Amino acid sequence: MPRSTVVRPDEIRRHNLSQVLQQVHRRGALTRAELTASLGLNRSTIGDLVGDLVRRGMVDERVPGGGEKAGRPSHVVAPRSDGPYVLAVEVEVERIVSAAVGLGGRVHVRHETVVAEPSPAAVVAQIARDAARLAAQMPASATLVGVGVSVPGTIQRADGLVVHAPNLRWRNVPLGAKLRSRLGDGLDVRIGNNANLGALAEHQRGAARQLRDVVYIVGSVGVGGGVIVDGAEVYGAGGYAGEIGHIMLSPDGPECHCGSNGCVETYIGEHALLAEAGIEADAFGPAAVAAVLADAEAGRQPAAGAVATVATGLGRTLAILINVFNPEAIVVGDTLAEILRIERERIEREVARRAMAEARGAAALLTPALGRDASLIGASELAFQYALTALIARDRAHSSPG
Ligand SMILES: [Zn+2]
Repeated sequence: MPRSTVVRPDEIRRHNLSQVLQQVHRRGALTRAELTASLGLNRSTIGDLVGDLVRRGMVDERVPGGGEKAGRPSHVVAPRSDGPYVLAVEVEVERIVSAAVGLGGRVHVRHETVVAEPSPAAVVAQIARDAARLAAQMPASATLVGVGVSVPGTIQRADGLVVHAPNLRWRNVPLGAKLRSRLGDGLDVRIGNNANLGALAEHQRGAARQLRDVVYIVGSVGVGGGVIVDGAEVYGAGGYAGEIGHIMLSPDGPECHCGSNGCVETYIGEHALLAEAGIEADAFGPAAVAAVLADAEAGRQPAAGAVATVATGLGRTLAILINVFNPEAIVVGDTLAEILRIERERIEREVARRAMAEARGAAALLTPALGRDASLIGASELAFQYALTALIARDRAHSSPG
């Protein structure tokens, strides 16, 4: 057997420990019997691995009391609320939301700060203040093991460089590097695109839980998305995949800020909706969008016509996504979720006309389960993806003799 294929016993154990930890993180409290069944390891191995995680202060184990059936009750393994946690941050144009999120996806503490001028320096300073404030509110035994930040822009995945965030007016901001040096301690910092992270969150903990092939499309002023193929997020070579808003619907369409024209965003973004409803550009904003949606729901023109036009554009976009990815579900979020709610029939008609029948039948159109917190939860999941493996490796290094 070639040397490279030999797996050392401590590597197998580390792999198994991280598998158990990931199960507890993904599914919350579960019995040893459930762990045994889902990991395909024997009962004594599971008992031993869980014991190790208990000693490391990551999980608790208890024997459920009352209502016992015949035979031994299976121990319940649950994440500890004073164990490891990550700092999750969502950077928006006018606010920063920070949260301490523990194993199992539990949000322990959450802060929201209004930021008038979201310059890179102001955002980094605010995140550092939030990290200190959250740490002070967590139990003394709880340790910060990673940081995940959601940004509305294109992100270079490898190092967390924000290449372009048009609404923040950022270009080439090394946010990952700035936070790493500011927060110190060799802390793992990951930056993600807000829509990609929304997709990750809805897949792990929201509307698309348990599904393996999912597309997420989210639209307010901008239109973005994320794609899950066979259970894994699709990021592309540099991390820029999922730009659903810049699929071209018509080569002769309106100009787009990306440099092309006729992009999806120019047909189904909020600016298209408002212009279609006859609103002047200087009155654009969330209040105008809410008014148009309310008018459309009441059947008043020209709002109803504007929503119908956007709905047709949304249906065409969904048809493209269905033909390319053959998803089990498409999760439609933010203002586009309102369009879906008001004009579902029109959208389904357009999908039926444009998507191939074989793929179309499988795709359910869903709305998100996590609401406004999807990107924040996604940021915590991004941090945990790296932290769960690192935790096991790090503790091993600490505890190894000599
Ligand atoms: Zn574009």
